[in-house]
Amino acid sequence: MASISRRAGNVSPSPTLAITAKAKAMQAEGIDVVNFGAGEPDFDTPQHVKDAAIVSLQSGFTKYTPTSGTADLKKAISEKLRRENGLQYGAGEIIVSLGAKHSIYNAVQATVDPGDEVIIPAPYWVSYPEIVGMADGKCVFVETDESTDFTVPIDTLRKAVSPRTKLLILNSPSNPTGGVYNREQIEQIAQLAVERGFYVLSDEIYEKIIYDGREHVSIGSLGDAIKKLTITINGFSKAFSMTGWRLGYAAAEKPIVDAMEAIQSHSASNLVSFTQPAAVAALNGPEELVREMVAEFDKRRQYIVGRLNDIKGITCTMPGGAFYVFPNVSGLYGGKITGSDALCDYLLREANVAAVAGSGFGADPYIRLSYATSMGNIEKGLDRIAAAVSKLL
Ligand code: PMP
Ligand code: GLU
Repeated sequence: MASISRRAGNVSPSPTLAITAKAKAMQAEGIDVVNFGAGEPDFDTPQHVKDAAIVSLQSGFTKYTPTSGTADLKKAISEKLRRENGLQYGAGEIIVSLGAKHSIYNAVQATVDPGDEVIIPAPYWVSYPEIVGMADGKCVFVETDESTDFTVPIDTLRKAVSPRTKLLILNSPSNPTGGVYNREQIEQIAQLAVERGFYVLSDEIYEKIIYDGREHVSIGSLGDAIKKLTITINGFSKAFSMTGWRLGYAAAEKPIVDAMEAIQSHSASNLVSFTQPAAVAALNGPEELVREMVAEFDKRRQYIVGRLNDIKGITCTMPGGAFYVFPNVSGLYGGKITGSDALCDYLLREANVAAVAGSGFGADPYIRLSYATSMGNIEKGLDRIAAAVSKLL
């Protein structure tokens, strides 16, 4: 009988993209929505990056490129990984895709067989379980909470490993919690992965958005044995405010990258040709703009955490990275507020404030607020949340 596949039937649309679209649609109707939903920097793409794309387009660089990206771009990525992350990958061990999300999808397709277990620390970014599901993998969630700044203690992780464990998804700094693993924790995870022989997909897309002098540690840089098991994922969306450009990449052992390339060659082919010189310009350009953006995020982070903790029924820890806060709002649950979805509906209807329910991140006691929006919006939004929440208590 004609019907959509079982696989497609099991996929839910991305709730982070859905809330962003909903808030933008309400704004387009003239409704004054404060949007804490968006997982994208509110800064413009740097001018020198745009210029590189314009020059490339005008020069006629508009044809297919190699599936895995141009030689120039892979060289720039290889140098970036060496310079900033202590990772040695040649051009043949790098593949560029249409966003880090696409790289993660390809990496999971390339490594996970039906029934293989994939360990995902929770709260997790919404797309990880769906991507694993599309490969018929089995998600093994490991819960974390505020007591460890949302990082998994090594003993807890060890207990989650089984002979069927194929992959661990590590995301530091984390979306949605902002949790950051320190060097010692990353070393312990590396040791466990080598001991038990599973892959680590290290999603490092928020590496540059990190506070209070914390160090970002790339797990693949901790020795040859762990490097062989690591798939490093990164992209341009967050560090260079390029969410709409769809540019991401993966670096791993050649057989994994070759498999990802084969998959990509039959689905997307190459990423957009004339964005590739722009990506080179982003990687080789001044770091100053990134630093300025992070300094601005830091001010907002301090402010938003302070304001949230002043609201009765809400507690919020200070995140170490990314541009999200993940307050515990379970003190507000009861009556008509049955959980995070109901609370986010209430905030949108009652207060014109868009936030993402924790349920989509596997953590219903929480909601996620992105502070990638102006200080003026943050002040207004927090005033509204405080007023709406006071009616619940
Ligand atoms: N990983 C994480 C943790 C994210 O938050 C995002 C959000 N965009 C991505 C990957 C994907 O980024 P993109 O596809 O825009 O490069
Ligand atoms: N990653 C961002 C977020 O979590 C953008 C939306 C998405 O790709 O999920 O909001």
